[in-house]
Amino acid sequence: MESRNRTISISPWRGVSSKEWHDWEWQYRNRIRTVRQLAAVLKKTPAALKKYQTVARSYPFSFTPYYFSLMNAADDNDPLRRQCFPDEREINFSLGGVADPLEEERDMPVSGLVHRYRDRCVAIVTHMCATYCRHCNRKRIWRKGGIEETRGYMERMVDYVSKTKHIREVIVSGGDPLTMKDGILDWFLGSLRSIPHVEVLRIGSRVPVVMPMRITRKLCDTLRKHRPLWFNTQFNHPNEITPEAAHACEMILEAGIPVSNQSVLLRGINDNYETLRDLFYGLQRISVRPYYLFQCDPVKGTDHFRTEVRSGIKIMEKIWGNISGLCVPQYVFDIPGGKGKCPLYPGSPFRTMARETGEYIFDRTGEVN
Ligand SMILES: *Cc1c(COP(=O)(O)O)cnc(C)c1O
Ligand code: SF4
Repeated sequence: MESRNRTISISPWRGVSSKEWHDWEWQYRNRIRTVRQLAAVLKKTPAALKKYQTVARSYPFSFTPYYFSLMNAADDNDPLRRQCFPDEREINFSLGGVADPLEEERDMPVSGLVHRYRDRCVAIVTHMCATYCRHCNRKRIWRKGGIEETRGYMERMVDYVSKTKHIREVIVSGGDPLTMKDGILDWFLGSLRSIPHVEVLRIGSRVPVVMPMRITRKLCDTLRKHRPLWFNTQFNHPNEITPEAAHACEMILEAGIPVSNQSVLLRGINDNYETLRDLFYGLQRISVRPYYLFQCDPVKGTDHFRTEVRSGIKIMEKIWGNISGLCVPQYVFDIPGGKGKCPLYPGSPFRTMARETGEYIFDRTGEVN
């Protein structure tokens, strides 16, 4: 593959063997997580990157050498760089926003398990991610030290699900569940699978985008055992659809697991018709179904990523009018206060209003039941 040759020539990993580069544990171990490491990859002095240190105290950063290799790191506006490089605007708290606008913590019957919709729940099994996305709506949990949850903690989730007969689907999420080892994933998925009323499992992971080498034959054999299993990932930009990412998705699909995509609408990254069209076309080409396009949640530290709903609807109108229905995700907004997801369409009863202070208010524009 052309990209194999390219990787070896990337500074400062020149000389790293292709075998290491394609080993997920190498990628994971060599994530760029400190200002010193960042300075090395950018060929700058740590002093010149002091501003990142301040941001990292509130929101740590981390990204894989692989993801770094896809961006033009010299360009502040590179769409991939913006998704993972710390940015001073994240700590500009005068812009408002709350840490947990979706009030997930409120809907946790046991620690780490969000049960909001009757028939399905979300299990937050780890706080680790291969790459921390700056727009993440769970960035509040990054500072919990990147812990992997213990087996006892996960047993309590299994116990709750087994006692709650109306749960038919469990979404295994995080953090990124695929930062965990195959063995514990196998045990957790198997424990859920053995509950008679749990019909379907789902994994939410950005690994195919940021560390596709994690999708190994062994992992696929593990996942295959727990079908029906659905896989949701998060491509946000066409530049992320590389041969490696396509191959990772192909392997999951070959294990009999449908792959869908949840993008986030991100200002200056993908909030225009051409970029989203190319993203959705690209996903269809690799057999990944665009499922949701999320309005960026009003989470503290993400204001600079938010596009107004009315612009989002305008772009989506053009998408609906021009491209194959299989390429069109549903544009949705998770209503603050834990009220749930709501589709956004022309005439839909929600809009965002930006106040002069930069504070975002969510408003119903009409009567809905
Ligand atoms: C989004 C979400 C789900 C899954 O919803 P789908 O519409 O089925 O994708 C489940 N629980 C919570 C708390 C959610 O936010
Ligand atoms: S991988 Fe998911 S949980 Fe982790 S930072 Fe990105 S969006 Fe957040």
